[in-house]
Amino acid sequence: MKLNVFETPPEGFLDLASEELTHALPGPSLIRFRGEQDPPIFIATLLHGNEPTGIQAIQKLLKKYKEEKTPLPRSLDLFVGNIEAAKANVRRFSHQPDYNRIWRGGDLPEHRLADQVQSFAKQQGYFAAIDIHNTSGKNPHYACINRLEGPFVNLARLFSPLLIYFTRPNEVLSIAFGDFCPSITIEAGQPGDPYGIQHVYDFVEKCLRLEQISPALDHEEDLYVYHTIARIHVPEKSRIGFNGNHKDQDFSFIEDLDLQNFTELPKNAVLGWRYNSQMKLSVIDERDREVGSDFIDYVDQEIRLKKAVVPSMFSTNEQIVHQDCLGYLMERYSIATNKDS
Ligand SMILES: [Zn+2]
Repeated sequence: MKLNVFETPPEGFLDLASEELTHALPGPSLIRFRGEQDPPIFIATLLHGNEPTGIQAIQKLLKKYKEEKTPLPRSLDLFVGNIEAAKANVRRFSHQPDYNRIWRGGDLPEHRLADQVQSFAKQQGYFAAIDIHNTSGKNPHYACINRLEGPFVNLARLFSPLLIYFTRPNEVLSIAFGDFCPSITIEAGQPGDPYGIQHVYDFVEKCLRLEQISPALDHEEDLYVYHTIARIHVPEKSRIGFNGNHKDQDFSFIEDLDLQNFTELPKNAVLGWRYNSQMKLSVIDERDREVGSDFIDYVDQEIRLKKAVVPSMFSTNEQIVHQDCLGYLMERYSIATNKDS
C-alpha cells in the first residue's frame, strides 16, 4: 500500500461526498494546498470511514477560499485515510486494521502506509497536526491531548475547553505526530450534524491564521481536563443491546447509555444487566492490564460501577462496540498538580 501525494487536488475533489472519494483518489492520499505561510498544518480525516465531518469542513473551507480567489493563510496538507471504508460508510472493514491504530509500526500494508506518511511529515516540519473524528454516541465536542505541554494544550483549547488526556492506546496518529510537532485529536460530535462541520471549519480557519502557538500554559483553571483510566470491552461473540432489560441478550445496557458521557456517575450506578453469568465485561487500564474487578460489580443481574467515574465515548452502536469498545472511563485531572510528574 503506497501513499499517494497530490501537489494539486484531483479534479472535482472539493465536491465529492466521503462515499465518492474512491472515484478521484486511488487510495489513502495526501493532498497539498499551498498557502501564504509555511510550514503547513497537517490535517488527518477519515481514519474512520464513517466520520465525515472533518473532510466536509475542510472541503467547505477550501471552496470558500477558492471562490473568493484568496490564498489560504497557511499551507495545508490534508491526509484522507480509509476511503474504502468511507465508501460503505463503515468505521473499517473486518479485513482492515483500525486506521487510528497503525501509527507505531507493525507488519501490515497499512503500517507501511503510516510509516510513509510519518517520514513525509518529518521532512515537512509541520506547524501542527490535527486529526479530526466524530463520535458514534452523543458527546460534547472535545479535544484529546497526549502531552501536557503548552503548545498541545493551547492548540486543543482553541477547539474546546473540554480536554481528554490519554496515553493509551499508544498507536494513534496524534501520539506518533506528537514526537515532532504539536498534535491533537478533535472529536466533533456525531456525523451529519451541521454544527459540527461549522465548528471544525471555524477551528481550522483559526489555526491557519495563527502566527505561532503559544508555548506557555496559562489559565489552566478554565480547562476541564479528564484523564482516561480504562476502557470497557464486551466479549467477542456476545449478544448485546441497548434497549434496557432484554433477557435474550448476554448484556443488555441501559437505553441512552451515551447520554451519560461526561457526567459524573456515582458508585453503584447501573450500566445495564447481564443475563449470561458465564461472560464478563473486560476493563483494560492504561497499562493494558485487566482491571474489571476494580470497576464492575455484578449484583444479581445488574451491572454496577464499583467506583465513581466519568464516562466518555460510550456508544450504542453494536458494531462499533464490538470493533472498538463500549466506551472509556475517566477521572478529573489537574494539570497544575501533575505538571512535574
Ligand atoms: Zn474516529
